[in-house]
Amino acid sequence: MAKEVRTVLPPETRPPCAGLWDTPMVQVNGDVTVCCLDEHLENKIGNVNDTPLGEIWAGPKLDAWRLAHVEGRFGESGPYCTRCNWRSAGALSPARAAEWRARLRGTSSRISG
Ligand code: SF4
Repeated sequence: MAKEVRTVLPPETRPPCAGLWDTPMVQVNGDVTVCCLDEHLENKIGNVNDTPLGEIWAGPKLDAWRLAHVEGRFGESGPYCTRCNWRSAGALSPARAAEWRARLRGTSSRISG
């Protein structure tokens, strides 16, 4: 069997992934992750049986990962995103990244890792 080879872009050339903004994925048991590639739920952020999806999607855990994405700190950007180079939802535009950086820096006191 061929060995999987993936090249992860260095942070200075890797854009933030729009998946953390645009593609909530809800599993049949209600678990929520940020990515269709996350079959093992490494980036699980909640469960809709416990918390409404809108609340999960606007929660501090995901905001912390979003801020890491827009600041190029991919080592803190969610366990699966850390080693991923496949932007399932495409790259977040520079304008949206700047807007979210300002927004999240303004609310960073509520952001947790
Ligand atoms: S960076 Fe990778 S793991 Fe993270 S949301 Fe995007 S495609 Fe999924």
